Order: sequence, then C-alpha cells, then structure tokens
Amino acid sequence: MDLMNYIDGNFQAHTGEQWLDVVEPATGKQFARVPLSSPSDVDSAILAARKAQSEWGGLSHSERAGWLDIIADELESRYEDIASLESRDTGKPISLARAVDANRSVANFRFFAEMIRTHRGEVFEMADADNFVTYRPVGVGALITPWNLPLYLLSWKVAPAIGMGNTVVCKPSEMTPMTANLLMEVIDKVGLPPGVVNLVHGDGGGAGSCLVSHSDVDLVSFTGGTSTGAKVAASAAPHFKKISLELGGKNSSIVFADCDLNKTIEGVGRAAFLNQGQICLCGSRILVQDSIYDEFVEGFIDSVESLKIGDPSEDSTQLGALISSGHLKKVKEYVSIAKDEGGHFLTGGDDMEIQSSLSRDLEGGYWMAPTVIGGLSPDSRCSTEEIFGPVVTVHRFKTEEEAIEIANGTRYGLAGSVWTEDLEKGIRVAEGIRTGMVWVNTWLHRDLRTPFGGVGDSGVGREGGRWSLGFFSETLNVCVKR
Ligand code: NDP
Repeated sequence: MDLMNYIDGNFQAHTGEQWLDVVEPATGKQFARVPLSSPSDVDSAILAARKAQSEWGGLSHSERAGWLDIIADELESRYEDIASLESRDTGKPISLARAVDANRSVANFRFFAEMIRTHRGEVFEMADADNFVTYRPVGVGALITPWNLPLYLLSWKVAPAIGMGNTVVCKPSEMTPMTANLLMEVIDKVGLPPGVVNLVHGDGGGAGSCLVSHSDVDLVSFTGGTSTGAKVAASAAPHFKKISLELGGKNSSIVFADCDLNKTIEGVGRAAFLNQGQICLCGSRILVQDSIYDEFVEGFIDSVESLKIGDPSEDSTQLGALISSGHLKKVKEYVSIAKDEGGHFLTGGDDMEIQSSLSRDLEGGYWMAPTVIGGLSPDSRCSTEEIFGPVVTVHRFKTEEEAIEIANGTRYGLAGSVWTEDLEKGIRVAEGIRTGMVWVNTWLHRDLRTPFGGVGDSGVGREGGRWSLGFFSETLNVCVKR
C-alpha cells in the first residue's frame, strides 16, 4: 500500500520520487510505503492551511465543536480498523490498541467538542471599566507526533487545535503513518472544509524540520524525544512561534512498605511494561523501601515472567514487539551498559528464549524479553537516561527523603507514581518530586481535563483540558471604560 499526502481536501501524490518503507515490527517485513515529502509539498500544505484559516476561524465555537463530534462519530465507526492498523504498525498487542489507542482517539474528539462548546471568555470588572477576555485562533499549526501512540497523540492535538479555530499541517512519525492516513480518510469522508486539516508524510529531518521552521507556521505542538525537541525549539525560536514540547521521561515508581503489595506489584508492572515500556510516562525506575525489597522483588519478577509475549494480533498477548530494529539495538545497548555498570538481571536481558518460542512468521520481528535489573546505583546511566523499552531498574531506599532525592536525580521531570496506604504521605511525596504529573496508588489514570506535560528535559508547556485551549489560542483583552 502506498500512502499519499492529504492537502487542501485531496489525497495528493508527493512531488518527488522517494519513498520510505513502513515495516511491521512483529515480522520485520515491509507492508506499506510512505512518501518522502519535499519542501514544496510542505509549502503546499501550509498554503492550503493558511487559505482556509480565516473562514474556519470565523465559525462559532459550537459550529466547530459540531465538526469534532462528526469526526468522532465516523472515527468510532472505524474503531476496529484503528486498533488493527495501530497494532500492525507499532507491534503493540491488539487488546491494548483497542482499549487505549482506539478508545482515546475517539474520546479526544468528543472531549474537546464538549469543552469548546462550553468554553467562554472571561470578564474582569473594575470600578470604572470592564475587561473582556476573548480567545482567538493562533493561525496555522504544525503538529508533530511520535510512533508510540500514533493516533492517540495526533487526535490529542488536532481536536483542540481546529476546535479553537486554527488550521493545521500534521507530520506523523514516518514509522507509524497508517492511522494518520485513516484520520485523513475520515476527515475527507465527513467533508471537513478543505485545508483545515492537512497531512504531509516524510522524515523528521526533511518534512518535519521544514514544517516547524516555516515562516508561515504560527504554532508548533511537538511530542517526541528530548534531543529532537531541542532542535524543534531552536528552529521555531527565530519566528517567535507559540511552542509546546512534550518530551521524554524517566519516571520513578516509589513503593513504600505500607503499600497493598499485590495491587502495587500489578500497578508497577503495568507502569513498567505497558506498550513494551514505550510510553513516555512509563515507570522505569522502581524504588522500593528496604524492609519489603526482597518480598516485592520476588512477587514482581513472578508477575513479569508470567507476561505473555508474542503475536500482537492475538487477544491474549500482553507484550508485543519493539518499534524497529534500530530501536531494539538502542535498548539492547543499555542492557550491555547495565552489565558494565555492575547491574545484574533479575529477569530477562536475553531474548533467546522468546525467539525460539515465536512462530516462524514472527522470527524477523523486534522482540525483547521484559528485563529487570538490580544492583545499579540510582545515578547510573541505565537509571537516569530514557531507555524507552521493556527495561527497568530496581533500587532500595530507607526514608521518604531518600526516595524523593533518588526520584529527583534525573534531568527529566514528566511523571511518577507513589504506592502507599498512607494517602497523606503519598501526596507529600508526590509534591516533593520535581515533575509534571504524579499518581498515588495508580498509574496512567487520566482525566482529560487535567494538565499534561513535564519540566526539565521532559518539555515546556502543558496540554490537556483548558491548557490545550489556552495553548491553541491567543487571548485578547478589551478594556471598556464606562
Ligand atoms: P522523535 O523525537 O525521534 O520523533 C518525534 C517526531 O518528530 C517524529 O514525527 C519525527 O519524524 C519528528 N522529527 C524528527 N526530527 C525532526 C526535526 N528535526 N524537526 C521536526 N520534526 C522532527 O521521537 P520518537 O518518534 O522516537 O518518539 C519517542 C520519544 O517521544 C520518546 O523520547 C518519548 O518519551 C517521547 N514521547 C513523549 C511524550 C510526552 O507526551 N511527553 C509522549 C510520547 C512520546 P520521523 O519519525 O518521521 O523522523
């Protein structure tokens, strides 16, 4: 299957001759091709978005919210397509693609439809005047998304961006373009005005960087790795674009002796290995209070070893393949680094067993056993750098203060979780961590009204709920003297 760009309401061939292969992570085989778009393709998409912006921005909030609901309905009718394409494109288990990716992509459009429909300006009264604050579109937005949660993250940006009256050009990861293409099919089918949503495929260094540095783009919403985020910020800066950067993470799961052990083992395991550990929020450093360390580790390893790895299309699969051979290599390099740093494997670290238990079709896929490493210092590279795979480190701590100090010992600050029956302590510890989001006795429990984002190397700005509406708009204050 050869994909096409979607520009000005049409699926269009790109101007060059170059293509990139789209590879199925579970088999290592090519199953589609994506255009390697040129700067002139990017220009056409931005031009289309610019042309459409003033009319689209002139619609009322409730008219635009109506469009978001129409898109949500049509997306929902393709729920099973979303799940199967996402599972095939990313290597994630089909059950996860249904429960997380397909559900949330529809929910994002519905949620922002409702928020935008009820969104109002503000009034600040003075003794002799009134201030009216209104929210206006920013203009043309560049939306750049990564490969781990392709449509989930794209819909999280498209819905509030167009809902607030902007028009957009999307650039999904070249590795996982299938559901972005599906969203364009949906948008085409429902007849959204041409130019409101455009999509250019291609690589980050080519189409991506051309898009974010373009002088006619007014805002950039980027989700991806920290080093790419730094490049994106640098190229957006000379034009003073509005920018939001959702970047990497190295999050701690802090387990206190007074936790509910069974629930904690389950929750910490989910935080460690969901989507093969390829979620920015994953808890990849597990800090365990000394007095229950051995008991926790024993139960945790049992539970990790019971995870079913294999064919992502099977309902019972819990762990799928990693995204690419390059990424698998990077993750395995960290496993070697862990050995050099003095770590020992509590489980995993060697994929031989998985390879031999896979069917022949899957032998060329990018598989790795979930790996738990003990014996490392909390300031080791494996414990402080983002690995973004099924590899976690376990560390001991004695006191609350020590747990907080270890949790704060990375340059990242995206998320974290605290596990304790003492909720006051849970909140106290959460507040001590330099991060954007902390869960107590749960993980990835999301209310879409809440702010999402991180500090330090995890990014700049917040999206989610009213924070998304704020980011995707410019405020105007009109002060009227009575
Ligand atoms: P990358 O940073 O490699 O890529 C992200 C996106 O940026 C892709 O679409 C990529 O295109 C594009 N891109 C690459 N270079 C440039 C450039 N110079 N200018 C503009 N765009 C560019 O991240 P990954 O796709 O590898 O995703 C994994 C990372 O994303 C992890 O670090 C993870 O933590 C982070 N992430 C953060 C989240 C958050 O909300 N904080 C959520 C999910 C992931 P292409 O792939 O086609 O080259």
